[in-house]
Amino acid sequence: MSDIVLEAKNLKKVYNYNTPNAFEALHDINFQVHEGDFVAIMGPSGSGKSTFINNISTIDLPTSGHVYINGREVRSMSSNEIGRFRFQNLGFIFQDFNLLDTHTMFENIAMPLSLAHVDQKKIEERVKELATQMDIVTLLKKFPNECSGGQRQRAAICRALINHPRIIVADEPTGNLDSKNSSELMNILQMLNKDFGVTIVMVTHDPLITSYSSRLIYIKDGNIETVLDRENLTQDEYFQKIVEINSAESREILQG
Ligand code: ADP
Repeated sequence: MSDIVLEAKNLKKVYNYNTPNAFEALHDINFQVHEGDFVAIMGPSGSGKSTFINNISTIDLPTSGHVYINGREVRSMSSNEIGRFRFQNLGFIFQDFNLLDTHTMFENIAMPLSLAHVDQKKIEERVKELATQMDIVTLLKKFPNECSGGQRQRAAICRALINHPRIIVADEPTGNLDSKNSSELMNILQMLNKDFGVTIVMVTHDPLITSYSSRLIYIKDGNIETVLDRENLTQDEYFQKIVEINSAESREILQG
């Protein structure tokens, strides 16, 4: 079995802790991701998916319990250390691309390295290398609002990969893409996972997008309700099972 790269132990998240409005969004989550896994997180709206992904990727800190990323306990680090650690270990992809419209595509992709004061020549080499892989090298001087959604998301992938992270965290990465660009993006993520061994943890509400993963974690009311491994299933067979899990849960919600 490959190494555990991400682990949550008894992870609990309470919003507005110690106030009359306290709300426990995650109850007691235990969760492991091994190197090379491609995990999709699904669940009804408000079930805790964003809270979960934020708490296992240093964006937010648990109220109690532990999160380990590449063996480091996140809560044991200072906020400066967390920033550095995030830069060195994790790449992020978001639904709305999170590109700055006042900066060129080049500057957006280069931003993590520019902030870390990496040598300009090295930055240029790395940006060109990634932009060539993602087929956006001719767009580097353009601004994001001059590019299509698919091109912007590919720039966001370049930015996520700029520092060779071993883990990619993606929150609804296809949420603003049409079906053609969504499947192109999923082929890219699958290629990064299969050919380069990058571990991926992704939130999505779409069974088709989940069918590119190797494991589904279904969250409901702040608990992990179901885990489904793709194993030897074809993508189509896996997709059918994902749909079944989602529709069974939807039926339960309908029936109250
Ligand atoms: P999902 O991503 O599955 O839609 P979230 O993780 O965003 O769910 O939210 C889980 C629950 O936590 C919801 O009931 C939501 O209202 C609540 N919640 C999320 N963020 C906050 C916050 N900052 N303060 C208080 N409650 C929150």
